[in-house]
Order: sequence, then C-alpha cells, then structure tokens
Amino acid sequence: MSTGTPLMQQYRDIKSRHQDAILLFRMGDFYEMFYEDAEIAARALGLTLTSRNNGAAADVPLAGVPVKAVAEYMRRLVQQGHRVAVCEQVEDPKLAKGIVKREVVETVTPGAVFADDLLDDKRANYVVAVCAAPVTSGSVSTPATHRERRIGIAAADLSTGELRVTTVAAADAAAHLARLSPREILTPRPAAIASVPPGHGSAPHDAIAALLQAHQRVHGAAFMTEREPWEFDGAVAHDELTRQFRIASLEGLGLSSDDPAVGALGALVRYLRELQPAGLPHLVRPIVEPSGTMMPLDDMTRRNLELVESLRGGTEGTLLSVMDTTVTPMGGRLLRHWMLSPLVDRTAIDARLHAVHALVHAPVERARLRDALDGVRDIERLASKTAAARCTPRELRALGDSLARLPQVAQATRDVVDGIPRTHSAGVLGELLSAWDTLDDLAQLICTQLVERPPLQIGDEPSIATGVDHDLDAMRLLRDGGRDAIAAIQAAERERTGIASLKVGYNRVFGYFIEISNANKHLVPSDYQRRQTLTGAERYVTPALKEYEERVLGASERIEQRERELFEALRRHVGAQVGRLLSTAHRTATLDVLATLADVAEREQYVCPEFHDAFVLHIEGGRHPVVERMMPREQFIPNDLSLTESARLMILTGPNMAGKSTILRQVGLIQLMAQIGSFVPARSATLPVVDRLFTRVGASDNLVRGQSTFMVEMSETSAILHTATNRSLVLLDEIGRGTATYDGVSIAWSVSEHLHDVIGCKTVFATHYHELTQLAEERTSVCNFTVAVREVGDDILFLHRLIPGGADRSYGIEVGRLAGLPDRVIARAKQVLAQLEGDGAQLAERVNATAELPLFAATAHQSPSHFVSPSAPGAAVAGNPESHIRARAEQVAEQLRAVDPNHLTPLDALQLIARLKTHLTAE
Ligand code: ATP
Repeated sequence: MSTGTPLMQQYRDIKSRHQDAILLFRMGDFYEMFYEDAEIAARALGLTLTSRNNGAAADVPLAGVPVKAVAEYMRRLVQQGHRVAVCEQVEDPKLAKGIVKREVVETVTPGAVFADDLLDDKRANYVVAVCAAPVTSGSVSTPATHRERRIGIAAADLSTGELRVTTVAAADAAAHLARLSPREILTPRPAAIASVPPGHGSAPHDAIAALLQAHQRVHGAAFMTEREPWEFDGAVAHDELTRQFRIASLEGLGLSSDDPAVGALGALVRYLRELQPAGLPHLVRPIVEPSGTMMPLDDMTRRNLELVESLRGGTEGTLLSVMDTTVTPMGGRLLRHWMLSPLVDRTAIDARLHAVHALVHAPVERARLRDALDGVRDIERLASKTAAARCTPRELRALGDSLARLPQVAQATRDVVDGIPRTHSAGVLGELLSAWDTLDDLAQLICTQLVERPPLQIGDEPSIATGVDHDLDAMRLLRDGGRDAIAAIQAAERERTGIASLKVGYNRVFGYFIEISNANKHLVPSDYQRRQTLTGAERYVTPALKEYEERVLGASERIEQRERELFEALRRHVGAQVGRLLSTAHRTATLDVLATLADVAEREQYVCPEFHDAFVLHIEGGRHPVVERMMPREQFIPNDLSLTESARLMILTGPNMAGKSTILRQVGLIQLMAQIGSFVPARSATLPVVDRLFTRVGASDNLVRGQSTFMVEMSETSAILHTATNRSLVLLDEIGRGTATYDGVSIAWSVSEHLHDVIGCKTVFATHYHELTQLAEERTSVCNFTVAVREVGDDILFLHRLIPGGADRSYGIEVGRLAGLPDRVIARAKQVLAQLEGDGAQLAERVNATAELPLFAATAHQSPSHFVSPSAPGAAVAGNPESHIRARAEQVAEQLRAVDPNHLTPLDALQLIARLKTHLTAE
C-alpha cells in the first residue's frame, strides 16, 4: 500500500490526533494497524506482521484483526496496558463519494472500559484524577507543607456511571487512593507546571509526586495518564462540569469553586469525554464525599487486617469472603466499598446498625427480600450500557426483567419496616422506601416490547415482540406467508414431476432453488431453469419460486430494519431515564448490603455493637470473624478486652502460637465492622468511634519495590506516629524485630512511650520483647496482658485465653519442636538458651549501668533475646571458664563500687552479699 494514497493520508491525519494509542483502523471486515502500532500489536497479540508496497513509496508495516474477533484482541491489548483507539467507517461505503469517512468512536484504556470481559462483577473499575491545591500560607517548601496541602481526588467508573469526589489532606491522600485501587491515574503533566516563586511553598506537583510515589511503593507502577495542567484549572473545570451535569453552579453539588476536587473532576470528565466522543449520558451526578465523613484506611491496615485481599493475595481468608453473601453484583461492589470506607460519624453508623437490627429481627421478610433481589441483575452496568447505546437486545431485556422484580423487593422491605415498633423511626429503610422508584413504566415497556429471550443482536431471531408494531407484524405475516408458499411449491412440484425426493432449499449465493438428484434429471419439466450443478444433483428455479423468493427476502430485510428502528427507540427512551435507573440501582444495592449484614449477623451469631462518646473500648467474648470459621465453632476461645483511660496501652506478650496476633486483629476487625454498620463477633461490644485505625503486623518484605523489611517496618511505624490522634486505635504486632535486638527493643520501647505519653491513643502492642512489660511500672496507663499456655511435661498446651500479666518466656523452642525441628537441634537450642539466660544477668547489668534503662536489668533473666553466639570469639563468656570467672569477679567489684554502705539497711546488706555470692558461684 502506498504511503501517499488518500487512504493513508486519512489514516495519518487521524493517527496524529491519537498518538498515544494503538489505532484500530476499520477497513471493511478488518481493523488494520500500521507502522509502529502494527509492530506493537504483532508482538503483543502474536499477529503476523506484513507490509504492502504499491510500488512508489516505502513499505508500510501492517497487521490486522477481523472485526468479528476484535473484542478479544482489544481485551488483550488493554490488559497489557495499552490504550486502544477504535476508528470506524462512519458512512455507508456504498454511498461514499471518494474515500469513506472515518472517525475514532471510542478509546479504551485500562481505567475506562465498558466491556464485560475487562471488568470484575464485584469491584468497581476506577480511573482517578488527582489535583493539588496551592498552599496559601506562603511558607517555604518543606515536607510539612506537602502534608498540609489539600488534594482533590475524583474517581469514575465508566461501566456504572459512578463518580466520586473528595478533598483530603495530603497526608491522607495515599490512603484514599489505595481505597479506590485505581486502574488508571490522571495527573497534570509535571514538566509544564509553572514553577512556584521561591518562598511560596512547594509546587503542587511535588505533592502529587509524593502521593504517586507512596502509591507506587505499595502497588507498583500504575497506568498513568498525564494531561495538560490547564485542564485541572478550577475555572475550566467549572465550565466543563456545569455543561456535563446541566447545572448553573457547582455549589448545588456541594463543591466550592476553590476546592481542588473541582479541578480533578473537571479534568476527569474532559478526559472521559475525549475517550467517548459520543457522550457520557450515564455520568449523571457526582457523589461528593465531604472530607471527614470516612475513615482513611491506609494500605498497611487494609492489608494486615486482610479486609478484601489476603496477605498471600486472593480473596480466601478475607473479611469480605466471610461477609459477602450479597445477591446482586452492585450489592457486592457496595459492600466492598463500605468495608474500605468505615464511617466516623456516629449518627450515620447508628442509622445503618438500626437498619441491620430491624432486618435481623425480621428473618422471614428478609428471606423474601433476598429472594426478590436474587433475580436482579447488574442494573448499574446494564443501565449505563443502555444510555451509552451499547446494550444488546438481550441485555435490555435483562434490565427489564430485573426492574420487574423491584416491586417484590419494595414489598418485602415495606414488611420489614412495618415490623419496626411505632415508637422507633423507620430509619434508613424508611428513607429508602420513601424515595423508592420501582420504575414500573420502564419494566413494563421493556418486557412488552421485547420478546422473552431476545438474541444478542438484531437479525435472524426476532427481538421485538408481536403486537408492538403494526407494520412489523404485517411484514412478518408476509414473510411467513412466503415461507408457507415455498413449502406449498415443494409439494406441488413433487406432485407435478412425480419426484418424491424433490426439495426446495436456500443458500446465500443462489437464493431459493429446487434440487433434483441426477437419477431423476430426465423428469425435469421444461420450464425449470438450471442454476447450479452439484456432483449428484442439479439445482433449478422456476418463475413462481423466484417471485416468492423476492417477497420473503425483501420482507426479511425490511423486518430487520424495522426491528432495529424499534429497538433503538426503546433503548433511547430507557437510556434517557438513566438517572432514575442508577438511583434505584443504588438503593437496591444498599438494601442488598443491609440484608446481607443481617444475614451474616444471624448466621455467625454476631451482636449489635453499642457506640458511646466515652474513651472506653470494651469487648466481651470477642472472636476473630475469619479464624473462628476455620475450626468448629466451639473450639474458638472468645476473649474479653478493655482499653480505658487508665489502661489504654496494652502490652501483649505470650508464647509463639498462643494467639496474640489473632486477638490483636480481632479487636481491629470488630472496631472496623462496627464502623461500617455491621454487627460484630462478640458477646457484647461497647465502642467509641475511632478516627483512625492502624494495624501494623509483622515485617512484610517489599524487596521487589526496593525496600528492606526493616525500612518498611519503620516507615509504617513512622506513618502511625505522625497521623494517630488520641481518638485512634493503634494495633502493633511486633515492632523492631527486623534489626539487632537492642536497637529493636529500644525502638519498641520509645514508640510505646510516644504512643502513651504524646498521642494518648488506645494501643494494643503484641511483642516478644518481654522487657516492655516494665513499662507498666513506669507509666500510669500501661497494662500487661498475656495469652495463657499450660506446660504439660515437655509439651505446651495453648489455652488461647487472654489474662492479665506478662509472659515469662516465649516457648519458641517448644514451638520449634512442635513444628518438627530435629531432636538434635532442639537439644542444642535448649543448651544455648540456658547459657544465654545465664549471661543475660551480666549483660543486663552492664546495660543498666551505662544506658540507665531499668527494663534490661529487671527482666533480663527471663529474656531469650540476648543473642550472643556461645561459640563466637569474644563472646566466650560461657565457653571459657577462666574468662568467665574473671568477668563475674569484675561485675561483683563493679557493683560493690556502686554501693553506698551508709544507705544500706542491715537486711539490704545481707541480701546483697547473698546475691553477689550466688552470682560468683553460679554455673
Ligand atoms: P506468634 O507469636 O508466633 O506470631 P501468635 O501468638 O501471634 O503467634 P496467632 O498467630 O494469633 O499466634 O495464633 C496461632 C494459631 O492459634 C491461630 O492460627 C489459630 O489457629 C489458633 N488460635 C488463635 N487464637 C485462638 C482462639 N482464641 N481460639 C482458638 N484458636 C486460636
């Protein structure tokens, strides 16, 4: 193909406007890709790369995919992170004068898709735009100014028409971004951002860059789209948004003009409009989430509590897997959203709890509600496709069938509300009902106009029901009459010719024909005209057959045309109601989630948590919602736990495997479940509303992203110390394990002190550093708890019961034995431990004298943590008897020097002598 042809000029013209996308250029039954696009696609899709040359100009690399198979190729390209622009022929080639007009009708990106095969039923597919507000304080650029900056975040799910916006402090932005798990992130192009004059704070893009770095550290590189900075400008965005939502001012949406969310939303809508030039009728209205209505749940906490994804990846073993028995896809998506967006407003939480409570106490009505919901399909996605002119006849009928179930949904809900005592308000359920729009008109229209099971596309099978359109019915009669007539011709010709095997057939090339086998050829009448010769037969036509053929074929074509018109009119009518459809879809999803929470509460024997405005967190008989399901119910040991003003920092020690992590996480999960409006796994729970929940568990490797285990641990800890307030709940499972023992203990100690003294939040700190139990003696509001075990001979029995007090040892060796370490290794470990424990006293005293940290001295005799290798040179206190004795004598002398005899009572003196003697003579 010559590069200079008009076609290639048209191609180049279109491609120049879509340089960052692979352009699928429609040519008849194929989409062709040229030049670099062809090379990329050939590699990505395993296509054969060809090249054409019409003689004059250079070869053009070329690769093509058939139109029929394009969906699959698109899916693969987008999944591999490509942007794909689809260029169609937008006029009938038969009517075109010169070259057929072509236009890009859609650009598909990972974040902006409609196709079912690129979507997950149970989760939203967001493209998110971020925009930073300038810092107005005039302060110089420091990390603090990044943190002070406000970031606007706008998210869109093209497949459902969902739009969400919020503005948050930069420090919380990463948590908000993580909650949305965007498939694509839209930012202003950094290079083009006008630099801010010195002394006027950091440039906005610094804040965005910091946010993206934080996001990428955890999630890896996201699909990024950079746009011109002016697109994020408030005034430009204002115009864009008032046009899209047909409103006079943004105040009506709850957005003020200086809000960075306006810029983010404006840029996002502009971008999506570019991707979908036919328009975005289903982006009806954004949901504005005022800052401070939701708890920012950082990535670490979300992962460690295994809310929607387990630490190993996948959904098994997550809280969502226990709770998600929603029956509709939009219910599933909403439950996930609720779980990642706990509320912080007590009234809003109580409202949800109230609704769940009513549903728990109406099991029969609830079962009916869930039955009714069960046949409801994905109204959000079906309605969006309808509005965007992308639905098939089958999908539109599915929408109609779903709507037809809504009256039953409403009735069952009404029955639940009727059961609420008159003294109580009907709450959320009442509100849902009073705003309920059953959409009877649309349901009826769709279900009467479309046949019960329409085909995937208008064509051979009927889509429009009989009785809808007079003309259509008449044409169908004509066509069917024609068919009958053809059958009659077959019978008559058999009779006339006496050929019993004569049959009338049809094929696309020759149309209708009479087929006669070679054996009967001599019986063919003279008015038969030969059409086609086969090996064993001849095919003929007659004038009568031709006439009927015209009638039938002409009618079929007209029928298809008419069906198309009628379907399009119906689709447009229903699509125009997309606002009503999406509101009802959201209400249906809310009912589904509330009924699911009630169902889980009953199934798992959860109770309604009670919120109060006091500090205290008190759980009786608390259980871990996921761990308890992994064993017969009676085997899980429930535990009580209280955090009060005077005991707000709990140091939780205990042997390995005792259940410390389980208790720690169950507190977090119970608090979180309560704040999404769910009942909780406990006998009773009295809770405050916490503003933030932090959960740091173990040391998770992030080597792939270039950070050492310990670095990750410290950055997570640092984030907690910077963000937690006295209304937060902080759960720490091991801090400082990833470094040398003394560094670790010291960090753990000072972190605990800071949480206790400076922040004053509720904290549970599970640790193997028994030294930390000393804190309780030094600080007023620290309490020690341990998880009980019983030693039976050489074995340990895990009781999984939380009791006051500190653990005396870790039983690590016993657990090692249980895990099957060879006997030899176990025996040697015991020997080493004994030696180290002997040395512990000496080490502790040294530390005590120099570092003035009482904890080492007081608990060193219990500690297995002084890992001085007994066989290492210089650490040979245990291995070399002479140096051993010398060392001890030295210590005794040291202690004597430190003693002031004038201040010793006789009893003290006696005890000191006894202690020193024991120390000197100890093995
Ligand atoms: P380590 O210090 O080794 O990390 P741990 O004390 O944190 O251990 P967990 O991981 O919480 O221990 O619990 C170990 C196992 O004990 C769990 O996987 C679970 O099977 C069981 N378990 C924990 N708590 C309970 C409980 N309350 N009732 C019954 N079984 C429990």
